[in-house]
Amino acid sequence: MSGKWIFLNGRFVPEEDAVISVYDHGFLYGDGVFEGIRMYEGNVFRLDEHLKRLYDSAHSIMLKIPYSKQELSEIIVDTLRKNNYQNAYIRVVVSRGTGNLGLDPYTCKEPSVIVIAEPLSLFPKKLYETGIDVVSVASRRNRSDVLSPKVKSLNYLNNILVKIEAHLSGVSEALMMNEQGYVAEGSADNIFIIQNGVIKTPPSYVGALEGITRNVIIELAEKEGLDIREEVFTRHDVYVADEVFLTGTAAEVIAVVKVDGRLINTGIPGPITNQLLQAFRQVVTEDGTKVYHHNTQAG
Ligand code: PMP
Repeated sequence: MSGKWIFLNGRFVPEEDAVISVYDHGFLYGDGVFEGIRMYEGNVFRLDEHLKRLYDSAHSIMLKIPYSKQELSEIIVDTLRKNNYQNAYIRVVVSRGTGNLGLDPYTCKEPSVIVIAEPLSLFPKKLYETGIDVVSVASRRNRSDVLSPKVKSLNYLNNILVKIEAHLSGVSEALMMNEQGYVAEGSADNIFIIQNGVIKTPPSYVGALEGITRNVIIELAEKEGLDIREEVFTRHDVYVADEVFLTGTAAEVIAVVKVDGRLINTGIPGPITNQLLQAFRQVVTEDGTKVYHHNTQAG
């Protein structure tokens, strides 16, 4: 027994009993939406923003989440309390639910709602000091007019293929271009480059998820008086950047020091990346929905 409690369709069950029907359309077709959220030192970071993106994604695919945002936020907080976590990664999944073998979502009577929380560190601590190597891959980002990257759906095959390409190249993360060859994002993180003191991240129309960490970094950079812009850029711009970093709920803020074999600058994390990482680390522990003191008061 792992001792971990999972919220599954209205109740808490031990991990070993947290099983879903093979007829669930989340499993059969990737029909559903999800969120990855994080709790730092007992505070859930940007819970309202994550819930907004979850409900917007569900609305976009005509999936009705059977809880209000407030109810789901209480379920998330209860899951963290039940497991007695201080720091955790939280996965919320809402799938179309159990139906028949056909893909028609109208055979699914009731969405499945799952909340899993566990302690997580995506990259070893050391990599936040040394930075990571990445490659750009042949797989393109889903075209926005086919399946909008703004919908955080269970359909992550595009991203998984990118991850496989990264591993085949001997690294753990990769950059995706859009169909025009502009840099879009990583497999599960947004990208920023810094050239001559100007910080740039691709606008969402290039085909990236509107990352919540990305938005936090934009806010923090503006607060620190840095010049930050949404702008399209190519692989070449990444190669010649002074600094490159990725952002994501799981990845946090991590420097990229080599891309396709080219060193980024001198190959160590740059000063602006480190400044933003520090500002990020401070805000995640100060902000947020308190799990243990004041119920679900958003901060
Ligand atoms: N892009 C993709 C494809 C992702 O899956 C994620 C992780 N949710 C991100 C970017 C980063 O978004 P966030 O900062 O909201 O975690």
